[in-house]
Amino acid sequence: MRPRGWGKRDIRRMMRGLRFRLTAGYAVFFALLLIMVATGFREYLRSTLDAQSRDDLNEEWAAVKGGFLRFFNSPELGWYATWYYAEDDPDETTAVLDIKKVYLVTDQYGKVLLDGETKDRQVSSEYEDIGIDKPSDIQARVRKAVADFKPNTPNTPTWMIRKDSTGARYLIRCAVTFPNASPYDHGVPFYVALGTPLAENDKILNKYTWRVFIGVIPGGLILGSFLGWIMAGRVLTPVKEVAHTAQRISGSNLSLRIPARQADDELDYLILTFNRMIERLEASFQQMKQFSTDVSHELRTPITAIRGQLEVALFTAKTTEQYREAIYNALQDIDRLSQIVRALLLLSQAESGQLALQKSHLDFSQAVQDLVDQFQIPAEAAGVHLSAHLPARCSILGDRVQIDRMITNLLSNAIKFTPEGGAVRVSLRPAENFVELVVEDSGRGIAAEHLPHIFDRFYRVPGSGTAPAPEQGLGLGLSFVAWIVKAHRGTIDVESTLGKGTRFIIRLPAQGVGSDSVEMVVEPVRRA
Ligand code: ADP
Repeated sequence: MRPRGWGKRDIRRMMRGLRFRLTAGYAVFFALLLIMVATGFREYLRSTLDAQSRDDLNEEWAAVKGGFLRFFNSPELGWYATWYYAEDDPDETTAVLDIKKVYLVTDQYGKVLLDGETKDRQVSSEYEDIGIDKPSDIQARVRKAVADFKPNTPNTPTWMIRKDSTGARYLIRCAVTFPNASPYDHGVPFYVALGTPLAENDKILNKYTWRVFIGVIPGGLILGSFLGWIMAGRVLTPVKEVAHTAQRISGSNLSLRIPARQADDELDYLILTFNRMIERLEASFQQMKQFSTDVSHELRTPITAIRGQLEVALFTAKTTEQYREAIYNALQDIDRLSQIVRALLLLSQAESGQLALQKSHLDFSQAVQDLVDQFQIPAEAAGVHLSAHLPARCSILGDRVQIDRMITNLLSNAIKFTPEGGAVRVSLRPAENFVELVVEDSGRGIAAEHLPHIFDRFYRVPGSGTAPAPEQGLGLGLSFVAWIVKAHRGTIDVESTLGKGTRFIIRLPAQGVGSDSVEMVVEPVRRA
């Protein structure tokens, strides 16, 4: 029984899944984007609100300079300041009361001035809570303003953010005023600081922050994740279809293909690649099937023959001579059997890469010459003229045993399939990047329909006319030749005309050729 519900494993598997990761990536991206936008907007809101507060303070300052606050000197009070406004005008009264909420007026040394009427100190209680500016600071600001003084030009104010005892923020505008200035003299300077609480701004900002960060962002995140999940699901559906089809593909139905979506996108490319892979698999599977059929067929023939011969001997042979003959025939078939098995073993080792080449610099010319010499006797016996046209030296990097095997196979085929009176010609031609070996004969030739198959294992062209019975060969020789050429990174071509002759052209990379002197033996090709 499968446990009900979701186990830890299921959750872990889901989290490793592409859909989850895509969604998570999308959600994180969405959240970061939202945070960035929200933070940016918060900064924008803060600067807008701050600018608003600055404008308010500038307006208050203009009103103060416009005549709401005036400075006098008397023997008993020294310098003092008095507020002037129409008390019956509600606008003016509200304006002055607003200004007087957070303000400070001092002389140039930082001493708080008195009010000419109430005799109160010209500082509001809220300003006292923030803390009256240090006399040294005030003196420095005044000194700077005096130094920068120009008639009828307002001096640049100093802006400060200060906090009261509860931590509430205030924006303070500090300025120096010259009420008695003349075109020639700045007169006596006074220090006036006006403030406005930023609590309201902070409240708006906090409310905004709270709403956005606690409400909108998680909401956006949930929405983003939801959308991401759906989108990732839609993107991955075709992938699932591909996986589904792939699951149905097995050794018995390799002909199955995943239909392309005609979208010409990455997924179609994946499908195409996948289909090509299945195609290759199908081809090699087919080859393997064919191979095992061929092998069993090849082995069955001699085994049946051996069995037949021995059975006949068992039931009918009477004399020792008859027994000897049966055993002799059986041994011949066993020889053929072991020949097939040995060749197959070697070929399968070669094709599975177990047969490593022992490469060395060797004289290709010499190798061909040696084998041509060896084949002179069988060629003569078959009435075939065998000639070689080779350069003095021609070195390649190759495995001597395999190169010999290659030449042997080509020569034996050429002699085998050339009727009496024919000719076999071997030539070697070093070119710039490769060495070309040509083995041509004036034999029976190979029909065009058979040409593509002659390198297949066990493939034998059905015999005709004077050609020897095809059963004589194993049909493995050219498979070997093809493998040897491939293992040496060479190419093999075959040209043939039925009844006229065949030409095998092998090109091997010319490593180490270069400095060899090339001397060609030029002799016209003799054809039967
Ligand atoms: P086999 O052992 O039968 O020679 P190969 O693989 O060497 O097997 O050759 C495959 C088939 O190709 C041969 O059976 C023969 O029909 C054909 N063939 C090979 N070489 C020649 C040639 N020089 N002339 C005509 N036919 C050839």
